[in-house]
This record gives sequence, structure tokens and C-alpha cells, in this order.
Amino acid sequence: NTNASTLEAAAEPACTEPLQVLGRDVRVPLVTGGEVTYAALDYAASAPALQRVWDDVAAYAPYYGSVHRGAGYLSQLSTDLFENARRTVEEFLDCRDGDQVIFTRSTTDSLNLLARALPADCQVFVFETEHHASLLPWRDARVTYLNAPRTPGEAVQTLERALADRDPHGPALVCVTGASNVTGELWPVRELAAAAHAHGARIVLDAAQLAPHHPVSVRELDVDWVAFSGHKLYAPFGSGVLAGRADWLQEAEPYLAGGGASKAVARRTDGGVDVEWHTTAARHEAGSPNVIGAYSIASACKALTEAGFEGLVAREQELIARVRTGLAEVPEVKVLSLFGNDAPRVGVISFVVEGWNSSHFAAALSAEYGIGVRDGLFCAHPLVRTLLGSDPQEQGECGAPEAAPGEKSLNAIRVSFGAGT
Ligand code: PLP
Repeated sequence: NTNASTLEAAAEPACTEPLQVLGRDVRVPLVTGGEVTYAALDYAASAPALQRVWDDVAAYAPYYGSVHRGAGYLSQLSTDLFENARRTVEEFLDCRDGDQVIFTRSTTDSLNLLARALPADCQVFVFETEHHASLLPWRDARVTYLNAPRTPGEAVQTLERALADRDPHGPALVCVTGASNVTGELWPVRELAAAAHAHGARIVLDAAQLAPHHPVSVRELDVDWVAFSGHKLYAPFGSGVLAGRADWLQEAEPYLAGGGASKAVARRTDGGVDVEWHTTAARHEAGSPNVIGAYSIASACKALTEAGFEGLVAREQELIARVRTGLAEVPEVKVLSLFGNDAPRVGVISFVVEGWNSSHFAAALSAEYGIGVRDGLFCAHPLVRTLLGSDPQEQGECGAPEAAPGEKSLNAIRVSFGAGT
């Protein structure tokens, strides 16, 4: 006699600490012998899942069924949970009436979906400082890559200048990240959205690094779309969200052709096939959707909302101050920053250590101290190269080659943290 709401009530947290993460007690071996409790400082890549999300998924697991298809009770229950998850995300993002929430695989998937849905002749404006997920999907459109600004104000001016030069009658899209996955710095999203709209352009927010740290209101920021990933928001891998205006999405061909996206399919007399596509979010969710993924994202959204971002932000700012103060005490350390020391930021800090190969340094943190960080160019090659003072146009693989002693570092070390750290 289980239905979606009783199941959701039954899944109310067994754990009392809403933002308790899994893996806090994981012990790892050290090269020096012995073992320590792992210090996870790579949240910007993937955050550990919340215990609460895990409990919710475990409570749902026995009731698992295919959505939108079966007549059976478990299928219907799963459909309810899937659609409730959509509403939870809608609320989490403070969406406008008429906005659609599409479940995808990740932020990368969400932005590629939007890129495929652009109207003909759409011009795209994107800063070279973006993560590759927001830098690269637009290459089939007319893209203008904007130079790295050195202040948030310069970002707005650069965008305004570029938009002023565009053909004002054609469609245009600006893609911007809310918080950098390299410097943790916040971008002036509201101001960039205002600039975009003043010039008749639309804007999509890459909130992969912002959503786990700050509330994201589509309405207040006045962005047209927002994208984020479950695995950076304390849910497991494999699910993401694209939310926002329905029109371009519903006028476009489905991202994937297949069942679920199609409302009616019929053979034509000439031997072909006619398809009527859905005009809801289902249009871009062909195939059997990742119900567990959607359910776990919704669970994480609820946990963050219930815990309240205020406390989360305050605790994280304390940690940022501690890490930055500690790093400042080491003269060989240079913290990477585009907007300067005073820029508001989330818990993502990249640095280089003079005389150290960044990859060796990161490996040593793991092997000798059990601290998990990341090294390399963080899928933002042009930005990291600019910050390291090397040529942003240079090509090279992530993490290699490293600088010789006495030369500039060619890659960096990143520590990142958040709720549960
Ligand atoms: N955007 C930013 C700012 C990111 O940091 C990342 C991942 O690191 C992505 C997009 C891509 O996210 P995913 O790998 O989940 O698609």
C-alpha cells in the first residue's frame, strides 16, 4: 500500500545530520606504512554522496520500475517519483511558470543538449575561461570567444561590447559559469544576464560549481537556462539537469530520437515514418530515464534546502579562510586567481608550489598524507594557462608535460570542499 508520498515519508532521513556525507571514515594506506582517514578535497570533481541521499535511494530501491510505460503498480510509483523529482528540482531552482526541467546525464550533457537546440544562425558568446563543458559544445554555431576579464566589471563590459557589435535581429546565447572550477571565484551572473537581455540575447548558466555552494534562483538571476550535475551536488553519478525556457527546446529536434520522446509514430504510404514528438520535457529524454538519478538529485536538493544554504556558506567561508591563510604562510605557494584576493568565492582553490611538479605534489599529498586533491589543467586549459602565465593558445594534454625546475609550472594543484567537509 505504498505510494509516492508514503515512500518519500518512509525515506525520511535515518541520519539526523542532513549534510552528513558518505566516506568520512574511509581509511587509506600510506606509502610510509600504516593508514589514515581519507581527506576528500576534490569535491569540485565529484562530491561524496550525502548519507541522506543514499538512505532515500535504498528506501526506493525495492520499488524500482520503468517510468511512463508500465501499467504495474511499481511503474506507476516510479513515474510519480520521477515527476515529483522534476517538481523538486523546479522548486530548488526557483523556476518560472512554463520553464521545463529536463533530466540529463550531467552538465556536459545538458549544455550539449541546449547547443543542439539553438535556432538557426544563433550567435554564441562565451568567455575563454569556461570549463570545456561550457566552452566546447557551441562549435557548430557562430561562436565568439571572449578574452579573460580580470575583474567581474570587465567581464560585463567585455560582453556588452561584443553584444553591441552583433546583428541585433538574429538569436544569440551567452554561456557563463556561476563559479569557476579553477579559482572558485563567483561570476557576476545577474549583471551578465542583464547585459545579455538588454541586447536581445539569452543566457545559460553553468551552475555545476555554483549549485552545490549557493542557492540558484533562475528567477532572481534572470537566466534563461541553468545546468548542473548530480555528482557534484552530493548525489551519485549519471544524472544532471537542464532547466529553463521551453520554446527553443520544444522547437528543436529531440536530443535523442527514440521511445519516450515520441508521442505517435506511423508508417507513411511512401514507406517512410512520421513522428509526432512530445512538447514536454520528455521530448529530450528519449529512452528509459535514469529514475534513480533523478530521485537522488531531488533528494540532494531537499537535503540542501532543509539544511539551509546560510549555514553551509558560513562554514565553507571559514574553511576557505583557513586554507588560504595556511597557503599564504608558505612563500613557495602561489594561489591562482582571475579576479584578485577579495573576490567572493566558493571552496575551490588552485595553486602552484615553486620548485614542485604539481602532479608529484598531488601524488605526495595522497601517498604520504591521505589527502585527495586534483592536479592538471582542470578541463579549463585556456584559463589555467592564462593564470599560469603561459600561452592560452598553446595546445597540450592535461597534466603533461610538467615544467623543468626553475621554469613556470604548466599545471596546478586544486583543493575543493563543501558541505560535509
Ligand atoms: N562546468 C563546470 C564549471 C565544471 O566544473 C564541470 C565539471 O568539473 C562541468 C561543467 C562538467 O560537469 P560534468 O562532468 O558533470 O558534466
